[in-house]
Order: sequence, then structure tokens, then C-alpha cells
Amino acid sequence: MTTLAFLDDAYLQQLATVITVVDGAWVETEATVFYAMGGGQPGDSGSFTGAAGRQHRVLDTRKGEAGRVCHQLEDDHGLRPGDTVIQALDWPRRYAHMRMHTALHLLSVAVPFGVTGGQIGADKGRLDFDLGETSLDKEQLSSQLNALIAANHAVSAGWIGEAELDANPELVKTMAVKPPRGAGRIRMVTIGDIDYQPCGGTHVARTAEIGPIRVLSIKNRGARNRRITLGWDEETTS
Ligand SMILES: [Zn+2]
Repeated sequence: MTTLAFLDDAYLQQLATVITVVDGAWVETEATVFYAMGGGQPGDSGSFTGAAGRQHRVLDTRKGEAGRVCHQLEDDHGLRPGDTVIQALDWPRRYAHMRMHTALHLLSVAVPFGVTGGQIGADKGRLDFDLGETSLDKEQLSSQLNALIAANHAVSAGWIGEAELDANPELVKTMAVKPPRGAGRIRMVTIGDIDYQPCGGTHVARTAEIGPIRVLSIKNRGARNRRITLGWDEETTS
């Protein structure tokens, strides 16, 4: 099992660690700052720097078996198990994912319906809701989200037992993505007193870090499903 350094500190950008497995371009390490694709959040990119100071690009990060994390390096990396490397994230990209991911939590607060899917990107993010006949106004929802952002709620994470989650099934808002299981515990993310849900992703520490946001579109996806897409409000940020 790879130690996931970002679960304790999402702001950690670099980490010295030791390579454990090399399978062609795919490299595993004892610990990692790289988030592996999952829960709608893309895998991190960045670099590994080896002992000789040679830098190798990390193109993508994926989940392996049994809680292991696999980093996809460029083919000719030449690294071996036992080598020490310094991992470094493509921080602007990851930080944008953290901001957008946290914004989608706020969207699930503003739109209190079941979530049927979602995707996080550095420029845009979206959630699909089982909204039925309820209609939403783009401008009104944008204002509501920006008010939640500006309120600067603290974001924190903790753990509960799987049995506790099973006894409180209403905590799971996302029907499409089941919380990761297996270690007997579930990671819960709290935003102020407005949101509490299982999540294994990376978030900002306070909602004001998200910055101004805009509802780009609300589209029909079938009879009951509505896709709500968020983007950065560049008119306000630039
Ligand atoms: Zn989350």
C-alpha cells in the first residue's frame, strides 16, 4: 500500500521517497504526493528527480491494486527499485483541481439533490444531478455559490469507521461514486457546518481560496438528470 501524503496535507508539493516497483513506464514509490485518478478528479502530473539530478516527467497517475499508486513516467527513465527520488507536482494544475473540487462540494450544497456523476478539470468542473422537474436559474445559482465561497468556510478531513457510514447512508450524496473502502475506515470531508460527506480527493483549506466562479451551463441529460458545469469567473479574476 502506497502512503498517500496528500491526504494529510494537500498543499505538499514535493516529497523525497524510494522507488519500490518499476514496470516499464509505470513506477511505484513508498509514499506519494501524486493523486491517482479517481472520483472524477484527474491523476496528477509533475516530475521525479533522481540521484544524478536528472528530471523525469510524470505524465499521469493511476490507481494500482491494493491501494498502490502507479506513476506513468516517460519511457526511457532508467529508474530502479531502491532509487531515491524527489517527487514534485505540477502545482498550478493540481491547485486548480483542488479549487474546482471544493467548488463542486459547494455546488452539492446549493443543489441538494442526488449526484449521479461528475468530472473535475483545471478550467471547468461539472456534476450531474437527479433533479426531476426542479428548474434552476444560472445567475441565481452563481450568486449562491459565490456567497458560499466568500463566507470562507474552513475545509477539513477526518476518518470514521465503515460501520458508522453504513448506519448513516444519507451522508453519501454521490450515487455514481462509492466511497473507497477496504481499510475499515472512510475519509470524511467537512466544510464549515454546511457539508459533510465521504471523499478521498484534494481540497483547499478555506472556501475563499476557490475564487469567483460562474455557472457556465445547466443542460438536460435525460428525463431527470441535469448537468451543471462550473468555470472560473474570469471577468472578476482578471
Ligand atoms: Zn471532495
